Amino acid sequence: MNSDYFNINIHLTEEQKLIQDSTRDWVNKFVKPIIEDHFQKEETPPGLIKELAEIGAFGLIVPEQYGGINADYISFGLMMQELERGDSSIRVVSSIQTSLVMYAIYKFGSEKQRLKYLPKLATGEFLGSFGLSEPSFGSNPSAMHTYFREEGDKIVINGSKMWIGNATAADIAIVWAKNPSGKVQGLIVETENITNFTTTVIKEKWSFRASKTGELVFSDSVISKDQILAESTSIKDAYRCLNIGRYAVAWGSVGIALECYETALSYSLERLQFGQPIASKQLIQKKLTDMITEITKAQCLNYQLGVLMDNGKARYEQISMAKRNNVKMAQEIAKEARQILGGMGITSDYPIMRHMINLETLITYQGTNEIHELITGRDITGINAI
Ligand SMILES: Cc1cc2nc3c(=O)[nH]c(=O)nc-3n(C[C@H](O)[C@H](O)[C@H](O)COP(=O)(O)OP(=O)(O)OC[C@H]3O[C@@H](n4cnc5c(N)ncnc54)[C@H](O)[C@@H]3O)c2cc1C
Repeated sequence: MNSDYFNINIHLTEEQKLIQDSTRDWVNKFVKPIIEDHFQKEETPPGLIKELAEIGAFGLIVPEQYGGINADYISFGLMMQELERGDSSIRVVSSIQTSLVMYAIYKFGSEKQRLKYLPKLATGEFLGSFGLSEPSFGSNPSAMHTYFREEGDKIVINGSKMWIGNATAADIAIVWAKNPSGKVQGLIVETENITNFTTTVIKEKWSFRASKTGELVFSDSVISKDQILAESTSIKDAYRCLNIGRYAVAWGSVGIALECYETALSYSLERLQFGQPIASKQLIQKKLTDMITEITKAQCLNYQLGVLMDNGKARYEQISMAKRNNVKMAQEIAKEARQILGGMGITSDYPIMRHMINLETLITYQGTNEIHELITGRDITGINAI
């Protein structure tokens, strides 16, 4: 089945193809056969962290001296696409570790912090989380109520973070908090080396069921002053990490769309009604045609965004547009694909419903659909409507 309708793959280097193919093979062998069960039971597949580390899914874009692979952004995007074909919970573990934790330390940490944490994050010895959102501040994190103050060589943190991926399993959390002058800085919190700190899992989520999401609560929690991300000076630094996360979502959504489209296409060729495959019906062909057309447009968008990222020319507004467009596109495709499968579409024999409900998170996190619409609106009109 050729889902690369405009031959985008001819632009890929051998290394990029290798990363895409090897990630896809790993997902086919080790994720697809088991993920539905873990999703239903609300558990992360055991051994996942070690396996993701082994396929290079932690720190792909980070330089080799820190344990990464120093790959380009197109390779990173392709890996996110293939991981999310398996399940969003698999992609998100890789993406949090790479885009939000390792990138934050690489970009805003001191050399000492990079050497201390990045190699361990790359091998999966350490798992990270990224704490920006709060119970009362999701779309508006700059109004956050998590603060820290210095006391000698320590800092004291108060506040809480909500909806944090990997919260309870993480060895370190990148926590964004305001200093006494109101500026947001990143802190590296070692979850074993902090006082008065609790973390709890949000139970019975209907989306991202194979990954844990939780809360981080700080009440006069004390860590060493050395744990401030030395080069972080404002909320914009947290947003820079989110840009890499949003880039990963833009590619991951195409992975979901491909999986749903390919499932629906094969099903429609095999399923007989009125004595013929349903694929022979014009209304079904229209759905499939719309799907591959929208996927192709999103693939072109991602590829060009990857080129801009690799040249250091991508604007955050462009990343925002790709994230919003591709998630909406994948939502529409998942809905139509499920419909093509009729009753079978709602069963766990096929991956479509699982992807559909995972998309409910993709449309909300890393900036909601509405916020991204307003980012584009501000960019083209010059008027801030957020
Ligand atoms: C499964 C999951 C995992 C997550 N992982 C992380 C994580 O690892 N780290 C982290 O920091 N956060 C994480 N998040 C949090 C996520 O980023 C927030 O949920 C998101 O930013 C939205 O915030 P909110 O849920 O508080 O919604 P709100 O901000 O309260 O928004 C509610 C609704 O109002 C709309 N709205 C808000 N402001 C405006 C406006 N100005 N104009 C128009 N409409 C508006 C929104 O679009 C939305 O529809 C995660 C969320 C989920 C669900």
